[in-house]
This record gives sequence, C-alpha cells and structure tokens, in this order.
Amino acid sequence: MSEKKKAYTRPWFWLLIVLIVSIIIKAAENAERIEQLLSSGDNYTEQEYITAENSEQVQEAEQEIISSEIADEQTEQSSAQVFRFIMNKSSKKYHTEKCSAAAKLSESNRETTDIEADSLEQAKQILEEQGYSPCTKCLY
Ligand SMILES: [Zn+2]
Repeated sequence: MSEKKKAYTRPWFWLLIVLIVSIIIKAAENAERIEQLLSSGDNYTEQEYITAENSEQVQEAEQEIISSEIADEQTEQSSAQVFRFIMNKSSKKYHTEKCSAAAKLSESNRETTDIEADSLEQAKQILEEQGYSPCTKCLY
C-alpha cells in the first residue's frame, strides 16, 4: 500500500501520465483531422453539386443549340434553294445555265442571276414579275 501511495514519485508513473496525455492530444488531433476531412468532404460534395448543376446547364444549352440547329435545317429544307439563271439583257429572256442559247449570248448581253426560291416555279415567277420571260428552249 505504501508503495502505491508513493507512485507519483516513480518515473513509470510520470511516463504513464505523459503517455496518457499524448494519447489524448493525438486523439484530439485525430478528431480535428476527421472534422477537417469531413468539412473538406462537404466542400467537395458542394463543388461536385455545382459542377453537376453546371453540366446540367451545359446540357440544356447544348440541347438548345441542337434544337436550334434542327430548326435551322428545317427552315433550310422548307425554303431557300438557289436557282441560277442566265439573263439576256436585250431580249429580257432568261435561261438555265446549261441552255445552248444562253451559251451563245455575248458577255455584254448576258447576266447571271441567282434567285432564292422554294421551287423552280417560284423562281420563274419572281423573274417574270421583274419583266423577264422564260426561254422556250430550256424552260418550258
Ligand atoms: Zn434557254
């Protein structure tokens, strides 16, 4: 019993105290580290969430681009084709590019015109409204 009462005077007692204190400090440090890990993990998740949100927005934007591209294609399909005609400036007749009569026209008398229209019929109509008449060889 007397030996136990004097325990604090013995080196192993202090060694034990130091050991216990260091264990407590280490435990506290670990707890702090775990907390830091947890909080940094939270940050990471938040960033991930933000990234996910961004990628969703990007996807939405991409879809908008794709749908607008589709819309563009549809408008292109439904309208504007370009028809090229060779105009005779003096006779006010118009020809297709391949017409042999158009090929004989002199440079000063000929003019190339591109007409944007839904169909050849519409292109012809546009030219006729401008006072031109179709060549009987190539356009009737
Ligand atoms: Zn012609």
